[in-house]
Amino acid sequence: MLKSFKTNIRLFVKKLRKLNYHNFLIFITTYVLIHNTFYALLLTKYNQSIASVLFLISGLLLLSYEFIDRKQYDLYARHIFTIILFFVSMMIYHAGWDAGFQYVLVATMTALFLPFYLPDYSKLNKKVLMTIGSCYVLVLMSRCIYGVFFPDQTPLLVFDSKTLTNIYCYNAFQAFVIIILFSYFYINRSKAFHDELTRRADFDELTGLYNRYALNQLLDDEIKKENEMVCIAILDIDFFKNINDTHGHNAGDKILKNISRIADSISNDIVVGRWGGEEFLLLSNKCNYKKFNKQLESLRKEIEHEQFVINKKSVHVTVSIGSTFTKNLTNKIDLIKEADDNLYKAKETGRNKLVTK
Ligand code: GH3
Ligand code: MG
Ligand code: MG
Repeated sequence: MLKSFKTNIRLFVKKLRKLNYHNFLIFITTYVLIHNTFYALLLTKYNQSIASVLFLISGLLLLSYEFIDRKQYDLYARHIFTIILFFVSMMIYHAGWDAGFQYVLVATMTALFLPFYLPDYSKLNKKVLMTIGSCYVLVLMSRCIYGVFFPDQTPLLVFDSKTLTNIYCYNAFQAFVIIILFSYFYINRSKAFHDELTRRADFDELTGLYNRYALNQLLDDEIKKENEMVCIAILDIDFFKNINDTHGHNAGDKILKNISRIADSISNDIVVGRWGGEEFLLLSNKCNYKKFNKQLESLRKEIEHEQFVINKKSVHVTVSIGSTFTKNLTNKIDLIKEADDNLYKAKETGRNKLVTK
């Protein structure tokens, strides 16, 4: 029993981590719909006209689903915030200060930032949103001022004291949850944006390997460390231009991807990245140069024996590799040039080989 409860919680948290904008909006709308319906039912006991307005608002909320489904997030945001503002301000005026609806209004202000996380932020009508935001503040301020000048006014809607306490506690709790929920959503989204930007900045789109920028960063990190063995190699596909010319650019891309996959699985100790075009850089720290070259040689052989199938035809591909090492990296340009010179020697002396220091 407890175990299945824990599993369910874990599943729920997992889903929450993957929280996307769309699902989050559906969740909010559902929540507000249930919430308003509940209040409408409760208030039927006290005041018919308010209840009917609330039913109307709840009905209008259904419209929001329509906006979400059509991915009109800007309209959705304006719609839902106007409804929340209308509902809460009405409740503040009718139920009075002691029912605690003002807390919900304050908490909902955190939700006002939601549209700034819109997938299509640039199209957002910021003026309308700011107007709604200002209305939030105005409603709250006016109620405060009203309360200062007329401290003893009787609310239109008088709940019995037990119900009033319950509503107050519920509203305070709700405000707390709203703030936590929205803050969580913002953190979650910001992290997702950050991860996505990092992915785009550091990884090559075609091969999924580290790009030149990321490789340079890794080399810079190595420079900062002192007296650490660094081994590097540059791998270049032989006669790749011919492959493109004979089989087409798409076939070339497919081969690039396959070679990347094979190179990336060479060893956990070796970082592989795309240095440019059909050239790859392999980097290892705290390495043993002899072992490094052994791994490079087996990679070269593996590519040589791989059957690359293009348009149902098998294509033979080979690579040339130049490697080198240093015991203390101080100048990455010199180190890369050394590896490049060795690659050049490999090309000059017949290709499909590894030339070492
Ligand atoms: P070598 O054995 O001397 O290295 O000859 P090569 O033909 O491989 O070298 P070259 O530098 O003449 O040609 C490299 C080719 O790689 C030219 C370019 O069109 C191709 N290339 C670079 N990037 C890509 C890519 O992303 N996709 C495809 N399909 N081809 C690419
Ligand atoms: Mg090249
Ligand atoms: Mg080449």
